[in-house]
Amino acid sequence: MEGDYDAVVIGAGFAGLYMVHYLRDRMGLDVQAFEAGRGVGGTWYWNRYPGARCDSESYYYCYSFSPELEQDWEWSSKYPEQPEILSYLEHVAERFDLYRSIRFDTRVTSARYDETANRWLVTTEAGEQVAARFLISAVGCLSAANVPDIAGLDSFGGDWYHTGAWPHDGVDFTGKRVGIIGTGSTGIQATPVVAAQAEHLWVFQRTPNYSIPARNFEMSPEDTRQIKARYPEIRELARNSYGGFPYRPVDRSALADSPEERETHFEQLWNEEGGFKFIYGSYSDLLRSEEANYTAAEFIRRKIREIVRNPKVAEMLCPTDHPYGSKRPPVDTNYYDTFNRENVTLVDLRASPIEEITPSGVRTRDALYPLDIIVFATGFDAMTGALLRMDIRGRNGVALADTWAGGPVTYLGLQVPGFPNFFTVTGPGSPSVLANMPLCIEQHVEWIGGCISHMAEEGLATVEADETHAEAWVDHVRDAAEATLFIKANSWYVGANIPGKRRVFMPYPGGFKPYADKCEEVVANGYEGFVFSTAAAD
Ligand code: FAD
Ligand code: NAP
Repeated sequence: MEGDYDAVVIGAGFAGLYMVHYLRDRMGLDVQAFEAGRGVGGTWYWNRYPGARCDSESYYYCYSFSPELEQDWEWSSKYPEQPEILSYLEHVAERFDLYRSIRFDTRVTSARYDETANRWLVTTEAGEQVAARFLISAVGCLSAANVPDIAGLDSFGGDWYHTGAWPHDGVDFTGKRVGIIGTGSTGIQATPVVAAQAEHLWVFQRTPNYSIPARNFEMSPEDTRQIKARYPEIRELARNSYGGFPYRPVDRSALADSPEERETHFEQLWNEEGGFKFIYGSYSDLLRSEEANYTAAEFIRRKIREIVRNPKVAEMLCPTDHPYGSKRPPVDTNYYDTFNRENVTLVDLRASPIEEITPSGVRTRDALYPLDIIVFATGFDAMTGALLRMDIRGRNGVALADTWAGGPVTYLGLQVPGFPNFFTVTGPGSPSVLANMPLCIEQHVEWIGGCISHMAEEGLATVEADETHAEAWVDHVRDAAEATLFIKANSWYVGANIPGKRRVFMPYPGGFKPYADKCEEVVANGYEGFVFSTAAAD
């Protein structure tokens, strides 16, 4: 055994960094973090593909826990690129002296609860083992890359990359024949940038997506000054909102407006605002009413037909099989316009699916596309993938994989019954990916820290989600999802992108504010639904 800690944290992205700071510097615990990457940043360490940037606006896609940090950091633009967000997280790690508590290039492969000792025994890929009283997963909802199992990939004679594990020294597409597989947020960001470099780009599309223009801009000193002056109000707005975005709540149905009024409103959002305001700052019922949703979906389809000159290509790009926003809505810069370029071809995989990858390229049912480079923008085994790629075992050696065989079971996305002293930051069953993530992460880290402090004050040895409460929470998440249009899509929210994955809606769709209120209410009611023991074997 190479160490015995109060807490082990797995991951050093937004979540792991703040968790280490909170436990170590605010609570005085002895903490060790492990990170598979060679640096901090998580998502922003791994996703270095061309065009990678956030699509939440920088002024709120950042931590709020330190007013000094908030005032000192300067964002260059509304949606900064990946290197800038990575620099921000590196700055945070330096500023709060976090590096000394993180072991890099160290993947955790298993964690087993030893009931007698009340310790988690954590093992790394190199075979090293440490013990800790608390185990905290900060492994990310979108960190387990999904490379589809396509016959012949090993035989490919060119180079291939997954966007979520992009080479640090970049990829030169100049003069190359490139194929991008996937048209989610990633493919949509990468396509225009790769097209500008490649000799020819083929975009392999299985499902068309609704994308909204980013309308990115450089922040002027005056923009920055105004935001910094308003931070307390901005954070308050975000904390009181559904999506964790600091937008003024809209309480109007899309159907309450006349078609002309709606058109004017959508036009203004499309042309001037861009980004998530189109969905979260337009009407209140786009994710609840099919009729309301149809008005937005039709507007976007009209825009696609206006932008894309070839009517056949425009039709191929128009989504019709799922409501707008029922898959995570992408935000783009010149995505649709890229299909007007001579060197870009859209390949419709619904009409002609990929059959294999050959030494020279991608073969669909109807054609062979000779390629030098294949980019897999095929997403992630979301929400549960990174957790289940470790062998986590709770009481009596029961594996998390078995407990979750029918889909993830958690209480509030924070704890799993049968896994004492194990917490999941933004775990399945919490708002996480449906809201502004740094805010969700801060709320979870602070809740977990509060729970551990409570245990110290009361002399408690273990905390564990009660099974009945967890089951009721899973039912509540399902019911909340069924009241929305989210369940109408084959999205990664329901695991549909991973063959064989159980179809369960994983994030909590009831809204950030109601969720955070529920977490506070649970505490006020003496941690209702959590079971504590004074001795580990109780
Ligand atoms: P991550 O950043 O994913 O960090 C998890 C870390 O855990 C990783 O570094 C990983 O290496 C490590 N890890 C995992 N398993 C192990 C293991 N077994 N052992 C050791 N280490 C391990 N959200 C938004 O709200 N707005 C956005 O604009 C936005 N843009 C995004 C853009 C991209 C390209 C992607 C992929 C996601 C985006 N997200 C966005 C979601 C994003 O994941 C979160 O905002 C946030 O970065 C998550 O932080 P995290 O610390 O929870 O997880
Ligand atoms: P994604 O949304 O899951 O999209 C993956 C794409 O690959 C989809 O078009 C999917 O088609 C396709 N695909 C998957 N397997 C395939 C196969 N076997 N054959 C052909 N096509 C296949 O993944 P992502 O684009 O990486 O985004 C994941 C999430 O990360 C986003 O939803 C978002 O939350 C976050 N993200 C955010 C940003 C940002 O702008 N800030 C950027 C990137 C990512 P189907 O739709 O048919 O499954």
